[in-house]
Amino acid sequence: MQQGMLIIVSGPSGSGKGTLCAELIRRRPDMKISVSATTRTPRPGELHGINYFFLSPDEFDKLIEADGFLEWAAIYSYKYGTPVGPVKDMLARGIDIILEIDVQGGLQIREKYPDAILVFITTPSRQELERRLRGRGTDEAGEIEVRLEWAGSELVQAARYDYLVINDEVENAVHKLECIVEAERCRPRRIVIPGWISY
Ligand code: 5GP
Repeated sequence: MQQGMLIIVSGPSGSGKGTLCAELIRRRPDMKISVSATTRTPRPGELHGINYFFLSPDEFDKLIEADGFLEWAAIYSYKYGTPVGPVKDMLARGIDIILEIDVQGGLQIREKYPDAILVFITTPSRQELERRLRGRGTDEAGEIEVRLEWAGSELVQAARYDYLVINDEVENAVHKLECIVEAERCRPRRIVIPGWISY
C-alpha cells in the first residue's frame, strides 16, 4: 500500500495556521492532524487528547528517554513534541497527516523523513501579526512580545521550507494548501499504478 504523506505546517503564533489546518481537515476528512504533547497548561476550552496531551515536565522527559517522540522542541519556556506511535501507524495505513509544529521540529522531521512536505504560514505583515496576537486576547502582554520576536527568527528559517503561504484571507490560504496537497499527490514517486508500475 502507498504510504501517507507527512505535511508539516509551521508559522508564528497568530499566523492563523491552526484555523487553516482545521479548515483543510474539514474539507479533506481523509487527512488527520497529529495531536502533540506539551508541558504548557491548557488555555480555556482546550482539552487533553484533543488539542494537546498536557503532560508534566517529568512525564515529558520520561517520554523523551523512551524514544516516544518523532521530534520535540523547547519553545518559549515549554516543551512540545510529536508522539511517534500514531504518526507511524497512520502513515503505514496510507493516511496523510498534518503536523502543526514549529520550525525546529519541522527541520528535525526533514532529516528523518526527507519526503515530508514543509509549509510555512505567515501574515501579510509584521503589523498584522501583532494585531492578531493582541486581538486574540489569550496571551499576556509580555508573552506577545516574546512571540513576535520568536516569529522573526522563524521567518528566517522559512527559506528552508518547500512552500510559503501568506494568510491574507482564510479562503485564499486554504485553497493554496489544498493545491499544495493535490500537487504533491501527483509526484511520480508517490504514485502506484496497480498491476502496472510504481516509480
Ligand atoms: P501554542 O502554545 O500556541 O499552542 O504553540 C506554540 C508553538 O508550538 C506553535 O508554533 C506550535 O506550532 C508549536 N508546536 C505545537 N506542537 C508541537 C510539537 O509537537 N512539536 C514542535 N516542535 N512544535 C510544536
